[in-house]
Amino acid sequence: MINTIKQFWSPGTSNHPLGGRRRIALCNQVGIFACLATLPYQLFYYFYDFTVYCGVFFANLIFMTLYLSVLLLNYLRRHNTASHVLLINTCTQLFVVTFFIGTEAGVNLFYFTLASILIFLYQRLRIRTYTAIMAAFGVQYGLTHRLFTAETVMAPVPSPWRDVMYGVSVTGALTLSGIFLYLLRQQIDHVEGELTLNNRYLEMLSNTDPLTGLANRRALDVALEREWARLARRQLALSVIMFDVDHFKPFNDHYGHDGGDRCLQQIARTAKGMISRASDLLARYGGEEFAVVLPDTDEAGARLLAEQLCTGIEALEIPNVALGTGGVVTISVGVSTIRHVTSDLPEYGGDHLLKCADEALYQAKSNGRNQVVYRAHDNMPIETPPPRKDHQPTP
Ligand code: GH3
Ligand code: MG
Ligand code: MG
Repeated sequence: MINTIKQFWSPGTSNHPLGGRRRIALCNQVGIFACLATLPYQLFYYFYDFTVYCGVFFANLIFMTLYLSVLLLNYLRRHNTASHVLLINTCTQLFVVTFFIGTEAGVNLFYFTLASILIFLYQRLRIRTYTAIMAAFGVQYGLTHRLFTAETVMAPVPSPWRDVMYGVSVTGALTLSGIFLYLLRQQIDHVEGELTLNNRYLEMLSNTDPLTGLANRRALDVALEREWARLARRQLALSVIMFDVDHFKPFNDHYGHDGGDRCLQQIARTAKGMISRASDLLARYGGEEFAVVLPDTDEAGARLLAEQLCTGIEALEIPNVALGTGGVVTISVGVSTIRHVTSDLPEYGGDHLLKCADEALYQAKSNGRNQVVYRAHDNMPIETPPPRKDHQPTP
């Protein structure tokens, strides 16, 4: 229903940005409304006493035609002309109609309201210009009140019709303001909805790594800081895993950049499938390096997941012939856990835990790759488990 009604004020709105569409639609709406609002007055003039009111009747016919011409002008893309015609027509009608019938019937109030709304058709009005135009409307309204009283006009409206007409004018003015505010509110809601969606989309983009679809470094930093702050409040463990693809440079050199990208995507998918808790965050740290933040996870849990990641990636059996016959893609993993809040905790941030995991990862590389190394958050010496020998490059 509302969409059918909207068709009436759509002429000329297509292929315009949202702001332009709104202005053109408002111009058409006011044109239609002003024309329709003049109709009941015309009926009165015609049927009550045409000989007395024929002057104002014919003048109104011209005004109504000009109101409707606004739709044609907008359709022809003469939007500025349409706005000017509407404003001049309204102000002239205010003057001419009150010249004929006086102000007692309240028609000047109606056209004053109309003219005030038309100001929204003019884009980027400076406050001084806006004030000047509104003051001009006010002066015009005051002048009509002063000049065109029942005693001085050609065709005053007799009682009780004068009061009926006054009621119609006030109702018209209120309806006009109401419709205008309703449409404005609708547009604001619509734009607000679009903005919220766009913001969510932009936020998602700014936190996502485009190649793998995982969280990016920025999202990782935010998550780490958040979990670090939670640690201060809750006596729970926090773990971080870092892993890096072994010998990825020769893989890239052999399979090309596209092959390298596909390998990273496959690793990301597999790792994501292994992380079950919604609170855990897997992120691409950069290049072929990934990180996992594991809130409420102690050393044993983090080590278990790290081992699973290590064996899971190896089990993919992505060939890496750059390493020799039978070589497959593997990862080296560093793990670090903070078990409880220590007195020196405030000196560090979440990135300290990341650094510990990175040091453990470095150690895993030095130990021969394709293995997990744990490093405690405090300065305990690094544990070095025996290196895994399977799938290492043949010399
Ligand atoms: P290591 O076992 O010591 O980690 O050796 P590596 O060869 O994996 O490490 P290195 O840092 O020498 O090489 C990393 C390579 O990863 C180099 C770079 O071309 C590649 N790389 C980084 N980011 C991307 C990416 O987004 N796509 C692709 N295809 N390659 C990437
Ligand atoms: Mg590497
Ligand atoms: Mg690396």
